[in-house]
Amino acid sequence: MIQVWNEVKEEIKKTIGEDSFKNWINKLNFVEVVDGFLRLSTPSNFVKDTVLTRYSSMIVEAFNARGSSINAMLVDVDLSAKSPKNTSEKISIDSETENNNVDEISLLDKRFTFKNFVVGKPNEFAYTAALRVAESDTTPFNPLFLYGGVGLGKTHLMHAIAWEIKRVNKKKKVIYISAEKFMYMFIRSLRFKNTMSFKEMFRNVDVLMIDDVQFIGGKGATQEEFFHTFNDLVENNRQIILSADKSPSDLDGVEDRLKSRLGWGLVADIHPTTYELRLGILQSKVKSCPINVSTKVLEFLAFKITSNIRELEGALNRIIAHASLVGIEINIEVAQEVLKDLLRSNEKFITIEIIQKKVCEYFGVKLSDILSTKRHKNITKTRHVAMYLSKELTTKSLPDIGKSFGGKDHATVIHAVKRVKEMMNEDRVFATDLEILTKALES
Ligand code: ADP
Ligand code: MG
Repeated sequence: MIQVWNEVKEEIKKTIGEDSFKNWINKLNFVEVVDGFLRLSTPSNFVKDTVLTRYSSMIVEAFNARGSSINAMLVDVDLSAKSPKNTSEKISIDSETENNNVDEISLLDKRFTFKNFVVGKPNEFAYTAALRVAESDTTPFNPLFLYGGVGLGKTHLMHAIAWEIKRVNKKKKVIYISAEKFMYMFIRSLRFKNTMSFKEMFRNVDVLMIDDVQFIGGKGATQEEFFHTFNDLVENNRQIILSADKSPSDLDGVEDRLKSRLGWGLVADIHPTTYELRLGILQSKVKSCPINVSTKVLEFLAFKITSNIRELEGALNRIIAHASLVGIEINIEVAQEVLKDLLRSNEKFITIEIIQKKVCEYFGVKLSDILSTKRHKNITKTRHVAMYLSKELTTKSLPDIGKSFGGKDHATVIHAVKRVKEMMNEDRVFATDLEILTKALES
């Protein structure tokens, strides 16, 4: 199997390039393939999250192309592998349970506390809900369902709840577990005919947190078990906290009755970051940093790195590391140089082809028609909008844009831009169409 893993790594290196390979794939260790699960490990949460979101299907496919039959991939975070004095602590759970996997599951990050969570408009509702659940003796909202895009603070909030509950009452049993791990343990317990202790383990907790439940879809038996465990816990007033990248009703591959059950408590979403929140987070992170980073540089980062908070943090760490290594003052030029690759990937990559395709889809017009000289009303409108958006959203010149529309000249593009601006003033519906299209292209 190690041999296969090495082949898989080589193949992926070719696809994604040396840099990404060094940053992510090369930081993974192979653990095992068992019962349709591929298990890898890595010393860092950051690597784990990135690998799972960006590369898991690539890795699984490469394995399966070599004769494996893997359904899902797990990445264990092995903090002890990095340094003996790690930042996490294991919360031990009922020692009577027979499953030795148990204490692996409650790995909490020391930095993920309420105190370290910067609150802004996009996350204040989720924050307030999380705090309420952590401070409450009863179960006011059950389950609490947190959802939002990658790297926006879901795991942070869950860990914060766990720390707060443990701080107030050490005796409380809190389990934090990823959905894949939950599934993995369940399937293992089926195999070893040990489902009783599995159920007991989860039924004897005060608070059960399952992270990233979008990964729980698909497996009928697991969902069934999840549903029963879930109902049991709720009936006994145990708090359940779930996170996902989608709302309960949008989860793929999850049975309808489970979906609706998941939405019974409080559903709180975390919205994409705003400039203010990004700046606030950067400011709070540099407070505890010995190296001086000017406000200008922080503003630059907050302006440029809009994808998510994880990347934003990563960017800040990189320039701080660079500065302390090289011993130079950080200004915008240095930041730009050090973060070249990251800044590029945060630039929205929009081409004229993408714009043409989207706009045609939107207005129900054939691509070949807008490249032609046809002057039917709907076709002309579609062509004008696509030209206008090409001018607004790409850096292409007017002659280049004209050429991409079946060899038209720059005067045609100027005319199109003018027409679209006029129509936006005259026609509210048209203005809304444009707004929707622009949003769709920029996301
Ligand atoms: P998710 O689970 O939603 O993918 P995480 O909770 O892992 O995201 O957050 C990614 C990183 O961003 C973590 O290091 C976390 O501490 C940080 N982070 C997220 N939101 C905030 C916030 N509001 N304030 C401070 N740090 C945050
Ligand atoms: Mg997470």
